[in-house]
Amino acid sequence: MTAAAGPAGSGAGGLTAEERLLRDTTREFAQREIAPTAVERDEAERFDRSIFSRMGALGLTAAPLPESLGGAGFSYLGWTLVMEELGAADMASAVTLSVHILSQLPVVSFGTVEQHADWLPPMVAGEALGAFCLTEPHAGSDAAALRTRAARLAADGQELAPDAPPDAVAAYRLHGTKIWISNAPEAERYLVFATVDASKGPKGITAFLVEKGTPGFRFGAHEKKMGIRACPAAELLFDGAVIPASRRLGAEGQGYRIALSALAEGRISIAAACVGIARSALEQAAAYLHQRTAFGAPLAELQGLRFMLAEMAREVAAARALTHEAARARDRGEPIGEASSLAKWTASDAAMKVATDAVQLFGGSGYSRGTGIERLMRDAKGAQIYEGTNQIHRLIVADAVLERARF
Ligand SMILES: Cc1cc2nc3c(=O)[nH]c(=O)nc-3n(C[C@H](O)[C@H](O)[C@H](O)COP(=O)(O)OP(=O)(O)OC[C@H]3O[C@@H](n4cnc5c(N)ncnc54)[C@H](O)[C@@H]3O)c2cc1C
Repeated sequence: MTAAAGPAGSGAGGLTAEERLLRDTTREFAQREIAPTAVERDEAERFDRSIFSRMGALGLTAAPLPESLGGAGFSYLGWTLVMEELGAADMASAVTLSVHILSQLPVVSFGTVEQHADWLPPMVAGEALGAFCLTEPHAGSDAAALRTRAARLAADGQELAPDAPPDAVAAYRLHGTKIWISNAPEAERYLVFATVDASKGPKGITAFLVEKGTPGFRFGAHEKKMGIRACPAAELLFDGAVIPASRRLGAEGQGYRIALSALAEGRISIAAACVGIARSALEQAAAYLHQRTAFGAPLAELQGLRFMLAEMAREVAAARALTHEAARARDRGEPIGEASSLAKWTASDAAMKVATDAVQLFGGSGYSRGTGIERLMRDAKGAQIYEGTNQIHRLIVADAVLERARF
């Protein structure tokens, strides 16, 4: 059975001919250029910059960005088709690209014309890699509690009083620590969230565009991860990095809103990549049940295993349906908070379950680091944690349900 042979494998329902072409072209690229080295890169914890550059040559490094800004102009549904194929080939590469897009979309939505021209072009072209920098040692799920401080400076470099008018601010000086920043230290361009006034909680959070090499900005420890090991993640240390006011994204205090709206979009992308993990686990398990014999017959003849496979297919199809629904809502310009949480929560749980079942169906060889099956399980686990843990998604969904029930 090939991937395109059935609903669980193809995801073809409701796609236009153009969308199918996009999916098939990306599948061909991902299987030819990315999948063959996925196990080796994971084992060696090796980031391969050339994969990102090749994605750039195909236009994927700005896939959902508007053509007016040099992007490929794909619909968000089209972007999820790309992410599913990358997730099926190698979640580490999918996360690198997803985070790169996550760090650009806020610039598209909240940036000035000058920032569009100044910040985006090398990122769009796949020459500069992006990172999204929110999490801190004391602020993960509770991101509004972040402590990285952005002191407001006058043109002479002196710190301004908190009540100084915004137009008196010439620059900001950052102090603080970020952790778990995917794509660091390889990335060149960092979207950093800091607070101009911690006493204001989320209303003090402000977004900044920070370049690698800025004095006072360096990298700390590298994360030693369970999965997506070929996607680097590191600590960022800010010790007096001066960022000009022209590199503030949006207004002071708008950063929390910028972060949340970016994450709502990013969750759909991660959901799609998780559908890819689950689909890959399902396809590989199905092929294995045909090949492997036990007690004189192929495993595929055992009803207990067939039922497992059917449940895995159900997980893939349901996760894809919710992911596409969220993407279509985004394409229609509708609110996506609840839909993106439902998609990311469902798809990452599906990836975890289906990958775990695939390890079981492969028996001992599924547990071996050489086959790549256990990698799917390790990669899926992270997606239940980043871009909002699946507990946080339950909170978001419950809030939306309760809000609708108000009289
Ligand atoms: C592989 C990976 C890549 C990452 N990449 C990035 C990145 O690029 N940029 C970035 O900024 N961050 C990144 N992160 C950080 C990630 O976003 C955080 O780990 C995540 O938000 C959870 O925060 P925490 O680790 O501090 O856990 P905590 O917030 O301390 O949570 C611990 C546990 O408590 C639960 N919990 C917390 N609050 C509640 C609540 N109110 N109700 C119920 N349960 C709750 C959580 O679900 C979790 O199970 C990454 C993390 C991982 C693992």
